[in-house]
Amino acid sequence: MFTTELATVSYIGATILFILSLGGLSNQQTALRGNLYGMIGMTIAVLATVFGPQVTGAGLPWIIGAMVLGGGIGLYAARTVQMTQMPELVALMHSMVGLAAMLVGFSTFIDPEASKGFVGAAKSIHEMEIYVGILIGAVTFSGSIIAFGKLSGRIGGNPLLLPGRHWLNLAGLLVVIWFGREFMNAHTIADGMVPLMVMTVIALLFGIHMVMAIGGADMPVVVSMLNSYSGWAAAATGFMLSNDLLIVTGALVGSSGAILSYIMCNAMNRSFISVIAGGFGTTSATPKPADGAAQPAGEVVPVNALETAELLREAKSVVIVPGYGMAVAQAQHTVFEITKFLREKGVNVRFGIHPVAGRMPGHMNVLLAEAKVPYDIVFEMDELNDDFPKTDVVMVIGANDIVNPAAQDDPTSPIAGMPVLEVWKAKTSIVMKRSMASGYAGVDNPLFYKDNNRMLFGDAKKMLDEVFIALKA
Ligand code: NDP
Repeated sequence: MFTTELATVSYIGATILFILSLGGLSNQQTALRGNLYGMIGMTIAVLATVFGPQVTGAGLPWIIGAMVLGGGIGLYAARTVQMTQMPELVALMHSMVGLAAMLVGFSTFIDPEASKGFVGAAKSIHEMEIYVGILIGAVTFSGSIIAFGKLSGRIGGNPLLLPGRHWLNLAGLLVVIWFGREFMNAHTIADGMVPLMVMTVIALLFGIHMVMAIGGADMPVVVSMLNSYSGWAAAATGFMLSNDLLIVTGALVGSSGAILSYIMCNAMNRSFISVIAGGFGTTSATPKPADGAAQPAGEVVPVNALETAELLREAKSVVIVPGYGMAVAQAQHTVFEITKFLREKGVNVRFGIHPVAGRMPGHMNVLLAEAKVPYDIVFEMDELNDDFPKTDVVMVIGANDIVNPAAQDDPTSPIAGMPVLEVWKAKTSIVMKRSMASGYAGVDNPLFYKDNNRMLFGDAKKMLDEVFIALKA
């Protein structure tokens, strides 16, 4: 249906739409439009590929069958997945890109048709594409599976630190390079298969080792890094299949993921290399007991919903700091109801968003946008930190690590140096959570014991409902 010329034009159109999509997604006001561009671009790309010149008649039913099956699974997953499971779903999807790159690599290698016509330097380049494509795909696949395990709590957040782990990685790299040479020198498919398999196993083990060695607090960087890897894996697939669109799209995802990793590193005051080297988050100022609850390190002042409502009623300026617990409790709609109520009473209500709040980049922004919180009262951490001394009440809703003063005060803390929202500088802070349990990084939070801090224990949605009723009474 699509001639070569039409397919090329469609690919260029899709590429432009993808770039516009990324531009749109960089800002909340334009994110919807960005998504729309992306969807149109992807539709054009899929149609131009499936009905393009590279697909012959006999292959079409297979492709359509696979699309219906994959699309069905995707639709089911998207409809049933909880908002709190989104980060795990994203990690699982990254693993699929890695798996696809691996499978395409192997099938390209064993398919005599795919390497027909490659001689001399072109043949070497083609083989190199296969080798590197499978390498990136395998690391992305196994790394993303481990990230999925860590994000869903199936695997513990503590870093796995094998003795001499950097040497192990280096040895793995050298073996991969050595077998790469063997692979390039192989004359038959059977000869090439051995080095290819050895490299794949090492790459899979490396992916597991790399993510296992990264501590809980550094997971945001891992998520964005694997996002970047999945882009490079897609680009590698594009090279193997000689598909320009896949190369460009993969490069766009790869580089935007790399930029995001850099931004996340800055947000956490980490160097990218130290995150990748792993092991961060090993020592904890207060070791976390097996049940996840931090050791009691002082007295806390609990309050109830009535007292919280009283504090809010008397406040002129309120800052709301949402965290992962707000997503778990699905409390964003009640948060907005309370915000509306207070604003109508003339209270200055603002939201403070930490870059790593929740379990994926932009997690809180998505929830607040879903609840229709106006964008102009949602602020980044840096925009608000100086304002806390002038704030009457800070409501910390299901957040923990991102408001932990130990990041500034305790150089031995696993989160030392991570910029945090300085909520303890406000007149009063109220932390809403169910217990004294620690957050994702597994460290105790001295904020809870400060004189001007109050604890409102309970599920965030339930407690906020009670606060709202008390406010209206
Ligand atoms: P935290 O994980 O530090 O804390 C969340 C708190 O929410 C917990 O202490 C928990 O306490 C509370 N909570 C859970 N369920 C509920 C509920 N139903 N009602 C009320 N409270 C609840 O989250 P933060 O957002 O503060 O920080 C994010 C952390 O996640 C950082 O360590 C970050 O590095 C990490 N991370 C972030 C990623 C990202 O990309 N944003 C990706 C991966 C990790 P309790 O059990 O007592 O209720």
